[in-house]
Amino acid sequence: MAGVYVSYPFCAQKCSYCNFASGVFTAQLEARYLQALAQELRQFSWPWKPETIYLGGGTPSRMEPAELRQLLACIPGYPWQEATLEAAPGDVTPARAEAWVQSGINRISLGVQSFEARELSQTGRRHSAQTVQTEVSVLRAAGIQNFNIDLIAGLPHQTLDSFTRSLDWVERLEAPHVSVYMLEVDEESRLGRELIQQGMRYGASAVPDEAAIVAMYELAVERLADMGLRRYEISNFARPGFESKHNLKYWRLEPYAGFGADAHSFDGRERRQNVESAAEYVAAWEKGAPVTIHRVAADLVQERLLVGLRLSSGVPLQPAERERYAAPLARFLEQGFVEERDGLLCLTNLGVLYSNEVFQELLP
Ligand code: SF4
Repeated sequence: MAGVYVSYPFCAQKCSYCNFASGVFTAQLEARYLQALAQELRQFSWPWKPETIYLGGGTPSRMEPAELRQLLACIPGYPWQEATLEAAPGDVTPARAEAWVQSGINRISLGVQSFEARELSQTGRRHSAQTVQTEVSVLRAAGIQNFNIDLIAGLPHQTLDSFTRSLDWVERLEAPHVSVYMLEVDEESRLGRELIQQGMRYGASAVPDEAAIVAMYELAVERLADMGLRRYEISNFARPGFESKHNLKYWRLEPYAGFGADAHSFDGRERRQNVESAAEYVAAWEKGAPVTIHRVAADLVQERLLVGLRLSSGVPLQPAERERYAAPLARFLEQGFVEERDGLLCLTNLGVLYSNEVFQELLP
């Protein structure tokens, strides 16, 4: 069954580590974007009824509840099995949480990243650990038990001790789902650029080294397992039954349709991508020009292996994959990066740490 992704790339601030096409834009652009987005949703032909929705960005929790209700009303399938809203701590109020539930939202992903004041202020985040604690209670009171906490390993000033304190908070809050991302270093974020060019402004010199980041990730795997949260994907941990149904669709190559700036879609054969920025998206829509800029036939043999390997449950190896990837797979087996269990190919614990290298070799 299929899913829907809705992109809302508007934020209160641009966080230093963020490499998404999101940012701070004018209220006027935000209003025009909402109109274009609603029209894109209304004009879609809906070959299936979605069972999951994911509102990401950006910060869709910024949307006025009435605007969110109108958007969700454009999507068939209510009540959805899973409807996730990404929320920035600081945006969750009792009135909003109740309005979200009434619109069909039943899962919240909180962009916490860290519970430590120094790490948060250096990256531009405005919340505190207490904000998150209060807002988790607000969500629970509104009936939302299913929530995720995002954490980043590798923020400026982060140490194994401070990361341990963030994990202590996760335990205290009894989060049923946690995502742990290792800091990405690329030209798309201000901190990434500074790390590459060795500047001073965003705290690049205080970013922990690779060995320390790996130690944080390994600590997360161990501590979260002790809390009953099993790693089911490289960066995702959940109590049984709280795995993200929507995100699992990406890793199982199930179809989904994406709407808004930089949204991606996959119908089982073809991948599509919308224009990247909010301004380009609004301009294209208002001119009557197509908002889709890339269409490419999916390479299903390659993709099944690449996304399937992300899952802890592994991926069954088909004859076509065995033949095409015989040489790198033999090498990965020898290096201890992958193993075969009951006919399923999985990354080992070591392979997870080298997953970027493994995926890089499997690409053409
Ligand atoms: S990390 Fe989240 S809140 Fe910060 S700029 Fe990126 S999308 Fe916006």
